[in-house]
Amino acid sequence: MIHIKTPEEIEQMKAAGRLSKQALRRVGAHVKPGISTLELDGIAEGFIRLHKGIPAFKGYNGFPGTICSSVNEQVVHGIPSPEAILEEGDLVSIDTGAVVDGWVGDNAWTFFCGKPSEEAKALCEITFDCLKAAIEMAVPGNRVGDIGYAVQELAERHGYGVVRDYTGHGVGHTMHEDPSVRNYGKRGRGVRLTEGMVIAIEPMITLGGYDCKTLSNGWTVVTTDGSPAAHYENTVAITKDGPVVLTQDDEGPWCPLEGGYA
Ligand code: MG
Repeated sequence: MIHIKTPEEIEQMKAAGRLSKQALRRVGAHVKPGISTLELDGIAEGFIRLHKGIPAFKGYNGFPGTICSSVNEQVVHGIPSPEAILEEGDLVSIDTGAVVDGWVGDNAWTFFCGKPSEEAKALCEITFDCLKAAIEMAVPGNRVGDIGYAVQELAERHGYGVVRDYTGHGVGHTMHEDPSVRNYGKRGRGVRLTEGMVIAIEPMITLGGYDCKTLSNGWTVVTTDGSPAAHYENTVAITKDGPVVLTQDDEGPWCPLEGGYA
């Protein structure tokens, strides 16, 4: 079921989006060789709780972390661990969300640990461009297929893989609402987007194929061919005035994060 939000509710959701982005920015500033992903998780949790938020992921279907930390060939849902020590050249996808006043914010970013390879950097640039192109499609009257098409067309034009097994989703009082927002599709197909829908748009793009598998821990999703992946996500409200990125802080809706894609 799709939960339509009033303009007042969308305003209320901005607090959760803001804290989610601030937490992501804070984590990104600590992505350096030698830090563990569990340490990054502690930074995010401390920051969210300090600002009177609740980590949205922690305990969700039993997930142990405040962040998902997915390194290199890990696509999404990586579990923060003291053994996962970041190394020079790693691609580090961080996904985090906060609950504020009962509303959820959800966002993700792929950071560079030190200096990335040229091909990894290009992957991140295009994945971020996919997110932007998808958000431009998030207007009343379009359909979810228009979002999927925008991502798929751009990514595949560059020879990248578009992950099929995981999708964006509606966001509200709970983290995963309808509709599913695929990163592939056909223009003019699927659920019609209407004013008051709030969706997380989150392209997951790989340097190789799109096929994925889940590790034996039951969470961590990796590319089957071992190719690196990138993941960018914002929570977006569909309004009569166009898409409104709710996961933004004082730097504005696109806010390139330090150590991000640029
Ligand atoms: Mg999400």
